[in-house]
Amino acid sequence: MSTKKFTLADESATILIGTKLANLCSKQTTIYLHGDLGAGKTTFSRGFIQSLGHKGNVKSPTYTLVEPYQLDGWNVYHFDLYRLADPEELEFMGIRDYFSDDAICLVEWPEKGVGVLPDADIDIEIKYVGEAREIAFTANSDYGRELISHLELN
Ligand code: ADP
Ligand code: MG
Repeated sequence: MSTKKFTLADESATILIGTKLANLCSKQTTIYLHGDLGAGKTTFSRGFIQSLGHKGNVKSPTYTLVEPYQLDGWNVYHFDLYRLADPEELEFMGIRDYFSDDAICLVEWPEKGVGVLPDADIDIEIKYVGEAREIAFTANSDYGRELISHLELN
């Protein structure tokens, strides 16, 4: 199965599914997060990053483009490319160095880095459904398929 969807009734459900995915990751992982402003990309990332041991807040690195976290043997890089003017800027940042063997990369607004960003194992799309959200996970690698096959919201 390469796509899996869940309804997220509230913010805590989004945090929970982020936690679940984080705990399944077992090697270098690249995750793209798609969705409108306010859909819940950062909320998902907060659940993911805090479940790996980060105690503080998780904010979208809108101005700095990337926020690094050293956690539980992982380097987690949380990108927000909303303000990226040109994908080439990623080359100047040394983007390849972030996608290393011990790295988990979460990328908000990956559309802005097309052509330069490495491919994702999983594409996540979050949509508004009234007050709630629907989240769809699509796997693009064997490893991504294995991850989403084990993913459950409970
Ligand atoms: P994004 O990073 O996609 O711009 P944020 O995660 O920063 O979005 O913001 C999502 C906002 O929507 C928060 O204010 C959050 O409280 C609210 N919200 C309401 N319902 C949900 C839900 N099911 N999942 C995530 N966020 C929700
Ligand atoms: Mg955000």
